[in-house]
Amino acid sequence: MLPPGHLGATLILIKTAEAGGGRFSLTEIVLTLAASLVLDLDLLPAQWLKKNHHDLISHTPLGAFILWLILIALYGNHLSLSGQLLILASFFLHLVLDEVGFWLCRLKLQGISREPQITWLYPRVKFPRRKNQEILKPSFLKDYFQKAKANVVSEMILSLMALLMLWLT
Ligand SMILES: [Zn+2]
Repeated sequence: MLPPGHLGATLILIKTAEAGGGRFSLTEIVLTLAASLVLDLDLLPAQWLKKNHHDLISHTPLGAFILWLILIALYGNHLSLSGQLLILASFFLHLVLDEVGFWLCRLKLQGISREPQITWLYPRVKFPRRKNQEILKPSFLKDYFQKAKANVVSEMILSLMALLMLWLT
């Protein structure tokens, strides 16, 4: 999934948590939104290593948990327990949304992604060496919009829902 979808879904997560009684500081909200995007910074080392970025530890539950621990070590004094859990949920929501493309493909709603995107049980299960998607090339986006239409529609719905929730609350 692309950044607008991740951001939209995370805004919905924050607004849902607030509707359930959660109260979050600006720091907690900013870190939660950052957690929804930061995993994809592994695109840069992945390009250098000529690997699919989903084959790096950063795109596993273990990697997300380690990144969360680092954030807590850096900012923990400024975060409530519910804020910390919200940030953790944001990291895991990113992984779930990256996996959604595979399930949409399996349901024959789109042409990509044909293989699971997240190695949930890493390091017990090794990375399958997925095809390098070369996401930083302009042709990737053209391919994505042509072959991952269900993903694109999902991202548009998530973004519109998030904007609507922001507008209404
Ligand atoms: Zn990702």
